[in-house]
Amino acid sequence: MVQISEVKGNTRENRTAAHTHIKGLGLRSDGYAETTGAGFVGQIAAREACGVVVDLIKSKKMSGRAVLLAGGPGTGKTALALAVSHELGTKVPFCPIVGSEIYSTEVKKTEALMENFRRAIGLRVRETKEVYEGEVTELTPEEAENPLGGYGKTISHLLIGLKSYRGTKKLRLDPSIYEAIQKERVTVGDVIYIEANTGACKRVGRSDAYATEFDLEAEEYVPIPKGDVHKKKEIVQDVTLHDLDIANARPQGGQDIMSMMGQLMKPKKTEITDKLRQEINKVVNRYIDQNIAELVPGVLFIDEVHMLDIECFTYLNRALESTISPIVILASNRGRCTIRGTEDIIAAHGIPPDLLARILIIPTVAYTADEVKTIVRVRAKTEGLAITEPALEKISEHGVKVSLRYALQLLTPASILARVGGKKEIDVDEVGECEDLFIDARRSARIVDEGDNFIS
Ligand code: ATP
Repeated sequence: MVQISEVKGNTRENRTAAHTHIKGLGLRSDGYAETTGAGFVGQIAAREACGVVVDLIKSKKMSGRAVLLAGGPGTGKTALALAVSHELGTKVPFCPIVGSEIYSTEVKKTEALMENFRRAIGLRVRETKEVYEGEVTELTPEEAENPLGGYGKTISHLLIGLKSYRGTKKLRLDPSIYEAIQKERVTVGDVIYIEANTGACKRVGRSDAYATEFDLEAEEYVPIPKGDVHKKKEIVQDVTLHDLDIANARPQGGQDIMSMMGQLMKPKKTEITDKLRQEINKVVNRYIDQNIAELVPGVLFIDEVHMLDIECFTYLNRALESTISPIVILASNRGRCTIRGTEDIIAAHGIPPDLLARILIIPTVAYTADEVKTIVRVRAKTEGLAITEPALEKISEHGVKVSLRYALQLLTPASILARVGGKKEIDVDEVGECEDLFIDARRSARIVDEGDNFIS
């Protein structure tokens, strides 16, 4: 059974939620940065350097190399990495992780790294299919009453009206379509495609943002005669290699790419072995050779890279050389430190020199008061929060004194306080109240240090 399924994109959106205002690097066509562009404020040199990296990637001169963003906390390292992925195109995977995340008792660390590598490699599959295009219509009470075409008892909510150029066809579909209707995914008025040969269904109308698919059981499915095919349609699916890994780590995983994707709907915990990955690579390579699929290398962003140990760095070194490698962007706010997993080897950013040698290092710098203010203003606008000028000033002061992150974090609670107080705008009072409610790290540490005994 071939299925076209909903493709779940990056499920880690929450990680990028703080960066929704970042739409790109904000560079002019000559490569120079506007003071503010695409949501990005300041950090001019780093943005321009990232622009050069984007050019290198596009001209395929980045293979085997990586980028390191070095700078203090909250200086926009994650935002820069995300902007690079935006510049590379829409639907380019962005996989942000933190170095410490790969340590778990269940999964080997290199295994966890590999998984994230594959999350950052996209595959765009284009297939031309013969499809019916139809609009979902409601059945008339009469139609709902009467069995259709001898296909057994009609249940109205399991029926879908499909208008083809030869008139309206009624198809009786599997109960899974009912579920979809219940979830309001397919409703009356939606435009859908039904594949001529397989009966797989894809919703395309109203919002093309997602596609969904229904299993059609053989005995329930009304086959569409070949001659009735309405049009040929190119169907594009974006998945990551990791999606395919999960989909196929199941006994029933089919070899064809669409059924691989079809499995995504029913996530189940299973082991992804090296052998399986190799198999998938083989199939993927075949599809690439046949021009059905195209690799879309995304960005793997590893924050706090000094948390990786020597074994991981060895793995990283090797993985960068692979023909299917994402763009790897590392970040660190450490200077010289011991390489994890070694007794006493001290290196810049805790990264072994052999890896460091193939890395382009881009420094990020602290923001000026004006830049912080502009960033807070951009962020407030993105979150739809109204704020008075004095309140903005007050929040921005924290950005300079404490950190940009702390300043931005105050925005949402302050807006809640304003709403509770019946105000339309965040004012200095709310900011002041938030400062007392949520202290910054330095103040917190001081309080703990001064406290006699926290435990008893
Ligand atoms: P850390 O080292 O703590 O991981 P970071 O350097 O990765 O920090 P970000 O997470 O990128 O910092 O930045 C913190 C917040 O400030 C994010 O919401 C980010 O989008 C925003 N931000 C940082 N720099 C800029 C900028 N130059 N323009 C607009 N927004 C920015």
